[in-house]
Amino acid sequence: MEIKITKTQTPKQKPDQGNLPFGKYYTDHMFIMDYTEGTGWHDARIVPYGPLSIDPACMTLHYGQAIFEGLKAYKAPDGNTLLFRPKMNMKRVNISNERLCIPPIDVDFAVEAVKALVKVDEDWIPTAEGTSLYIRPFIISTDVHLGVRPSYTYKFMIILSPVGAYYPEGLDPVKIYVESDYVRAVRGGVGFAKTPANYAASLKAQMKAKEKGYTQVLWLDGVEKKYIEEVGTMNVFFVIGDRIVTPGLNGSILAGITRDSSIELLRHWGMEVEERKISIDEVFEAHKNATLREVFGTGTAAVISPVGELNYNGSVISINSGRIGEISQKLYDAIVAIQNGKIADELGWTVVVD
Ligand SMILES: *Cc1c(COP(=O)(O)O)cnc(C)c1O
Repeated sequence: MEIKITKTQTPKQKPDQGNLPFGKYYTDHMFIMDYTEGTGWHDARIVPYGPLSIDPACMTLHYGQAIFEGLKAYKAPDGNTLLFRPKMNMKRVNISNERLCIPPIDVDFAVEAVKALVKVDEDWIPTAEGTSLYIRPFIISTDVHLGVRPSYTYKFMIILSPVGAYYPEGLDPVKIYVESDYVRAVRGGVGFAKTPANYAASLKAQMKAKEKGYTQVLWLDGVEKKYIEEVGTMNVFFVIGDRIVTPGLNGSILAGITRDSSIELLRHWGMEVEERKISIDEVFEAHKNATLREVFGTGTAAVISPVGELNYNGSVISINSGRIGEISQKLYDAIVAIQNGKIADELGWTVVVD
């Protein structure tokens, strides 16, 4: 499929690279393609960024049949524009689509669409330390219909947003509230899909944690409220003694690409990583035995987010005295350096936008 490009006649003023809050600024163009039952995906195009006009009865507004993705583009020192494992994002689109009854996309074409859009808005990629161009592909269902059923029509879109470092003051460990009432997802539900419902369901607990002075929530499983699932919208890792443990992918956890990359890198460095069930009691027990060395979250936005404190039913533990751990720092430095083309990409993860 060819991508038709219509460039804007009125380019926007670019924001100051020293002040790029996450998700505040959008570039000059966006990618759209439509799906119609019988025809498939069609009319791939890059057009000036702007609002959509949709019918108030548009299904996505009522029943949330939609999915999204998140990845980033980086400017390397040699001037190349790099993407980090973009094919994994587009494969994950189809995993989410399958669960949400949305027709599959062509993975390779979707990567080409990202490249084409990033190329058109290349001047928007910030170059200051820690900055990048956040890429948000998403799909909405567009039938005008108020009965609950899968839509017959969809829009796949990509928008771009220049973003600054997630933690401008450096990797400062965050305080996390272990949520024991609300749950994010249950097995059999949509927890493994990147779909808006999961985020709507998470807001209440996030507000509760904020009110208590915590940055984010540590989610427990939806049945026994005992086993750890994720931290906020990130996957979570624990360094206990000389083992690194992360919850196994069980159906209610999102299979993060930063999670996968972290596991691969750690194993590449000869460290042991266990993907298995881990209970909140095991974590508190490890703290008691002085073997809990580090806790960190992984995700595209922050890359690595160290955890400095956990509060579980009023019991508060401090991890590594609230300082960033050695493994968290090493992983962060390595992943960011690979993403930015500053060290050799031994694992073949980066893709040049050419
Ligand atoms: C996107 C996301 C992650 C992280 O995935 P990455 O591919 O590493 O960005 C983890 N958990 C949830 C719930 C997410 O939505």
